[in-house]
Amino acid sequence: MPKRKIMRIRIWDNCTINKVVDGDTVYVQRKKDRVKVRLYGIDTPEIEQNGGEEAFKFLYQWHNKKVRVRIITFYTDYGRIIAILYDQDGKCLNEELVKNGHAWVYITYCRTSICEQWKILQKKAKAQKLGLWSKQYPLPPWEYRKDYLFRATQQTRIFHNNSCPKYRKEGIGFNDKDNAIKNGYRPCLQCVRK
Ligand SMILES: [Zn+2]
Repeated sequence: MPKRKIMRIRIWDNCTINKVVDGDTVYVQRKKDRVKVRLYGIDTPEIEQNGGEEAFKFLYQWHNKKVRVRIITFYTDYGRIIAILYDQDGKCLNEELVKNGHAWVYITYCRTSICEQWKILQKKAKAQKLGLWSKQYPLPPWEYRKDYLFRATQQTRIFHNNSCPKYRKEGIGFNDKDNAIKNGYRPCLQCVRK
């Protein structure tokens, strides 16, 4: 785990986004320094996930644009920060992503008062079926990134072992097959041992 230092709120003005990595990560140029910024409190689908490309394209609107960076966490050993970004019109980029259905509020890490507002915006985006909410079963990216032993697609409700060709990372994950069965899923007869 990288060392981190929680700082008092610190603002960097006049930064420029000069690279968009994905829907929640950019590089900003600040004077002579180039710093990697993870957007605070949100999580967007991985690029190869449903909605990942869309989130990237949405954030790319601010490529080469000036932003104000409000630092939440500063990682001392990487020159990497977690921050809230605002554009020159005062729009909050993190919030825009949630509002337009391109990001989830990252419930485990979003702990400031602003997160409550973002949760409301997420509900509204969901109700309007915006962006990733237009799909029936969007999988939170933090679930997608985990290494589960079994995954089931919601359509078939059949779960597969992680070595089965039918195993899909987009599916809901389980490590305990009894638990999967208890939740109404059925084991694949080819890959799940009794
Ligand atoms: Zn299988």
